[in-house]
Amino acid sequence: MFASKGIYIKNHSEIELMRESALLVGATLAEVSKHIKFGVKTKELDMIAEDFIYSHNAIPTFKGYNGFPASLCISINEVIIHGIPGEREIKEGDVISIDCGVTLNGWVGDSAYTFATKGISEEAKKLLQCTKNSLYAGINKCILGQRVGDVGAEIQNYCESFGYGVVREFCGHGVGKKMHEKPDVPNYGKKGSGIKFCEGMVIAVEPMITMGKKDVMIEKDEWTCRTVDMSIAAHFEHDVAITINTPDVLSNFEQIEIVIKQNDNLELV
Ligand code: MG
Ligand code: MG
Repeated sequence: MFASKGIYIKNHSEIELMRESALLVGATLAEVSKHIKFGVKTKELDMIAEDFIYSHNAIPTFKGYNGFPASLCISINEVIIHGIPGEREIKEGDVISIDCGVTLNGWVGDSAYTFATKGISEEAKKLLQCTKNSLYAGINKCILGQRVGDVGAEIQNYCESFGYGVVREFCGHGVGKKMHEKPDVPNYGKKGSGIKFCEGMVIAVEPMITMGKKDVMIEKDEWTCRTVDMSIAAHFEHDVAITINTPDVLSNFEQIEIVIKQNDNLELV
């Protein structure tokens, strides 16, 4: 049902369907992370994800979305989001953000994880840790009585306290039958501002944080979004349902992190 301002409110059974979609994204990213090896091409990782998603009776939501050509966004180092998989090979020391969306039973799951390959700098590890922490700091504000601006303020204040850049041009969003629903959930903002959370809202919280300045540019392919100053970036994303109790995080990173520990080319940070 639609609440005010065009926000689609999900009932209990719809949220359970969305959990299945979100968990399938986690399972897909875990499958992909088994194959992150030095020398592998990003298009090979994309094919693994696509096959995995179809074999679970789901559809890769990104493929064809506004013309996007692949099932994953794979964004390396200074690329923040929307990197197009292709011939590029994974190298030691790369920071690899992978964003994935699936549509299962008509419901979208949308989640992202930034992987540390063996050999990344201590500085880069700190950026990844901070970005992941900021995701959970933002999620902790996804409760009744809080507003969209409280999530943004939390993420912004936390990341800026480390001197990092908080990307303004892209943001989190409502998620449901469509990947991008109302409301927008910026990663910056003022406490107490914006739409108030109510039970049954489901939102994707997704901080995009840079080691340098916050300014971004889009490459000629009209998708790849990178930092202007070429500083590296990180991106983590969870789907979260607002309940009368604590935030209900529908996606999870557990399977991904089990695989990371078993993959010699990756490091858990
Ligand atoms: Mg995403
Ligand atoms: Mg998203």
